[in-house]
Amino acid sequence: MAKLVPTNETILVAGGGISGMTAALEAAECGKHVLLIEKSPSLGGRVSQFHRYFPKLCHPTCGMEINTRRLKANKRVHILTMTEVTAVTGTAGNYTVNLLTRPRYVNENCTACGACAKAVSSEIPNAFDYNLGKIKAAYLPFVMAYPQRYVIDPSIVGTAEGEAANAACAHDAIDLDMKPESFTVNVGAIIWATGWQPFDAAKIQPYGYDRFTNVITSVEFERMMDPSGPTGGKLLRPSDGKEARNIAFIQCAGSRDRNYLKHCSRICCMATLKQSTYIAERYGDDPDAKVSIYYIDIRAIDRFEDFYQKVQADPRVTFIKSKVANITEDESSGDPVLHGVDTEGYHRYDNRHDLCILAIGMQPSVRAEEIATGMHGDANGFIETNDENGAIFAAGCAGNPLDVNRSVQNATAAALRAIQVVNRIAAAEA
Ligand SMILES: Cc1cc2nc3c(=O)[nH]c(=O)nc-3n(C[C@H](O)[C@H](O)[C@H](O)COP(=O)(O)OP(=O)(O)OC[C@H]3O[C@@H](n4cnc5c(N)ncnc54)[C@H](O)[C@@H]3O)c2cc1C
Repeated sequence: MAKLVPTNETILVAGGGISGMTAALEAAECGKHVLLIEKSPSLGGRVSQFHRYFPKLCHPTCGMEINTRRLKANKRVHILTMTEVTAVTGTAGNYTVNLLTRPRYVNENCTACGACAKAVSSEIPNAFDYNLGKIKAAYLPFVMAYPQRYVIDPSIVGTAEGEAANAACAHDAIDLDMKPESFTVNVGAIIWATGWQPFDAAKIQPYGYDRFTNVITSVEFERMMDPSGPTGGKLLRPSDGKEARNIAFIQCAGSRDRNYLKHCSRICCMATLKQSTYIAERYGDDPDAKVSIYYIDIRAIDRFEDFYQKVQADPRVTFIKSKVANITEDESSGDPVLHGVDTEGYHRYDNRHDLCILAIGMQPSVRAEEIATGMHGDANGFIETNDENGAIFAAGCAGNPLDVNRSVQNATAAALRAIQVVNRIAAAEA
């Protein structure tokens, strides 16, 4: 990775998802120095957790691999993982940013051979799989993680297991004495690409996510369908491990609702349409495979309309125009039973399914006011374009719930704005 040279012509990008990677690369490929920081141990953000992505239904690995190749080839991007911004002060062209790096306990000598993981038996919840499964306490975050470097969980540091991992490493890559490091950098412009987080489904009490095992969220479903995920790509019910075939999706779960998120997250309809194709792919012509999509209205804009029409034509998929009122659980089978009124026929229904997926909304992972004074958020907490000094720019889902295509466009625009700021600084200093 490139050597860090922060000056007031450097651009700091906070968040290493698809938006942050794009902004960093676009700026670096225009000749600017970029410091890309990411709070988790690897880049890729939420996109790397998908099984496939719409509209082409390709695996996220392909898009990510292109970006990691570009990053490896570019000496102007300096990447710091496990790092967060703790404070920002200053003005356009002269920001002071305080950063905190948590210890990985593994250095750049790591070859990702996995010997440390073999030497360890303790397990921790697997955050990459939304804690649906467990992972060894010495772990690679996921198969295609970048950087390809293991992490030692702090729970085994100072224990015999930590020592065993250290002893198993033939590359002198484990350093159990690493400490958290705080430091300050001076940069000219900042791109805030910290993305989104899923709305806490447990808050939607009528849907019983915290009470009924077979009610899960769309992001969990995404991991379950991934062959490298917690169920090896099988759709196993959390309650009894049986394969689920009769699937319900509830749209706008917590979105467009004054009790939860007021905004439309824009993506959930397309996410469900995409996920319904996973069922078709998995079960083929199995007559028991059924998908019921409970919706208020389907928002599939522009070219996504074709995708919507294809799913509508699938005989396995039924669209039920209704906001589900509540879910109960059939105690003997563990089946979720959905109750409501079909607003096209005004029929009451009590529909039993094997598994229910809540298409939960997206909310900003960092609210505007937490970043720096002078930052503004919209009514839903997403960051509005720039700070009062004009050089902190939002990119991707930090500023709006967007799909990948629009996140990438938005991140490129943020990079161009940041480039203009540092160019002005350079011109003034010349
Ligand atoms: C269920 C679901 C399915 C979806 N499927 C698709 C799809 O198939 N196709 C599609 O186009 N779009 C899809 N989307 C939308 C897609 O997830 C977003 O477009 C994409 O994640 C935006 O990327 P991002 O980089 O802006 O944000 P993120 O992916 O959220 O990345 C943000 C990054 O910032 C890091 N970060 C957060 N806070 C900090 C901090 N304080 N300091 C440093 N780093 C931080 C995070 O760890 C993360 O790596 C889906 C969304 C949902 C809800």
